[in-house]
Amino acid sequence: MKQTINILSNNVINQIAAGEVIQRPASVVKELIENAIDAQAENIHIIIKNSGKSFIQIIDDGKGMTKKDAEICFLKHTTSKIKSIDDIMEISTMGFRGEALASIASVSEVELKTKTEEDESGTVIHIDNSKIKKISKTAVNKGTSIIVKNMFFNIPARKKFLKSDKIETKHILETFIQIAIANHFVKFKLTNEGQTIYNLASENLKNRIISIFGKRYNQKILQIQEQTTIVSINGFLGNPLDAKKTRGEQFLYVNNRFIKSSYLNHAIKSSMEYMITKEQHPSYFIFLNISPKLIDINVHPNKTEVKFEDEKSIYQILKSACKRSIGLSPIQPSLDFSVEKSFEIPVHTQNSIPREPKLNINTNFNPFTQKTPQIKANNHNAQELFSEHNTEIIKQVINIDSRYAIFITHTDNSINMLDKKKAMERILYEKTIDLFNTQQPTSQFLIKPMKIALNIMDIEIIKDNVEIINKLGYQIQNIEHNSISISAIPNQMTKFNTQEVIEIFIEELKQSSNKINKELTNNIAKKIAYNNVAIKQNSDNIELHNLITQLMECETPFIGIDGKPCVINIEPNKFFN
Ligand code: ADP
Ligand code: MG
Repeated sequence: MKQTINILSNNVINQIAAGEVIQRPASVVKELIENAIDAQAENIHIIIKNSGKSFIQIIDDGKGMTKKDAEICFLKHTTSKIKSIDDIMEISTMGFRGEALASIASVSEVELKTKTEEDESGTVIHIDNSKIKKISKTAVNKGTSIIVKNMFFNIPARKKFLKSDKIETKHILETFIQIAIANHFVKFKLTNEGQTIYNLASENLKNRIISIFGKRYNQKILQIQEQTTIVSINGFLGNPLDAKKTRGEQFLYVNNRFIKSSYLNHAIKSSMEYMITKEQHPSYFIFLNISPKLIDINVHPNKTEVKFEDEKSIYQILKSACKRSIGLSPIQPSLDFSVEKSFEIPVHTQNSIPREPKLNINTNFNPFTQKTPQIKANNHNAQELFSEHNTEIIKQVINIDSRYAIFITHTDNSINMLDKKKAMERILYEKTIDLFNTQQPTSQFLIKPMKIALNIMDIEIIKDNVEIINKLGYQIQNIEHNSISISAIPNQMTKFNTQEVIEIFIEELKQSSNKINKELTNNIAKKIAYNNVAIKQNSDNIELHNLITQLMECETPFIGIDGKPCVINIEPNKFFN
């Protein structure tokens, strides 16, 4: 068989290479915004049409390019940012490889207009399939405008793999936000389908976070600052106490570049281990600065993973920086962080929560462990224990502290340790589930619709799920581009913070396939329960009786919604016989 070897044309080579850098419209947006920032632009305007698939334009007022530079910038390996191999060692973590424009030009139609300060007139270049089709002079302001049209027009196979407009737009917005946070002094405007989505002033990091995520972030973030020999850390941490909401805005940067790291995410989360539940995600906007020599430089510019030489130390430093920032915050209850790991003190707060008592407890002490009695936990049903009418059953209740109580039953003189918090969560959880199962929930109409501020991505989720939410007895009256108004709330939900409940819905809907199913409602009910149970300092007898009665009416009274027991039962006759 005759074999022929073909030398691939430059164009094909570029198209293959382009796949590495340019996967979707959001990759183009990322590369072009980064170029504008590298060119010291103060104003960057991003214009998107048809989710970027047919039109992306980035206009900047940066230093621009001369005619000569404009002609070659679309060739492969053209960059003004690296000259020698030493430069690569220093700055390659920034992702300069002189590849982006070449890649973009090989998969789309490009129009570049640019002018430097010194040049009299600017240059306009049209490129199609990596070839310059037209070049001429033009009158423009200093700076650069790049239009990228009909992405992947020449590679149908790739075009086919693009997702729906909604998803591609979401990717663009995510990319935009990642860059806009890191470059908060740059003014950004983002226009999608003719509508201004963001118009951001030059501002400090905190204000940028507020501009993007809403005023509710004003009170909710704690500053982080840490300087060590290996790494310096600064930024903001969502206040774990204040942030009742369960979802997190998680932004982590290394040398100003957005990264994802489940390992470092764990460091941050574990700094709050007594304050948030497993299901909750902290918000953070954290910047690590580290010598490029201590990072694996072979990381692909498009990837968001980074390898650190000394990952463990960075983990520890980050964790303690977060702890310190939480510890320094004035709203912090006097939680003792030295308390042992095995002793969990979840602090689910409401604003009204009294200060947590100082915890000084020997966590190893368990009076029963030596004798290994039969301690029954969560393996018997309520009827067994409470076979008569409830009020008659409780012989005695004793409040121990903010968290625990003991009750003794008439029937068998059994002693029961009650975790009040877990019990309250269980009760609230089951009540909320009941509500979700109600076929025709009754609602309370509001005299004035309640306005809830949401970010643009959340609005999309609400739009997709209006029916689901309305079916539960809410009435979403109006959806605007950064808020919704609600005109009715289901009766049983009026006692909860509606903004927070809506945020919980959004978070869960994001992960489900837009369907109400059991898992979704269970998760929502769980989060509502976690977020709305506050530990009270002490409870009187009547409160305790009520709590126990309500708990026993639950379907699963002895197990907390986290799967751990909320009642531990010891029967004396089994114990001593
Ligand atoms: P890199 O950014 O890695 O250098 P690119 O392909 O993204 O590679 O860009 C190539 C070169 O084109 C840059 O090094 C820069 O000199 C020039 N350039 C690109 N975009 C702009 C811009 N918006 N303003 C000024 N110069 C630009
Ligand atoms: Mg670039």
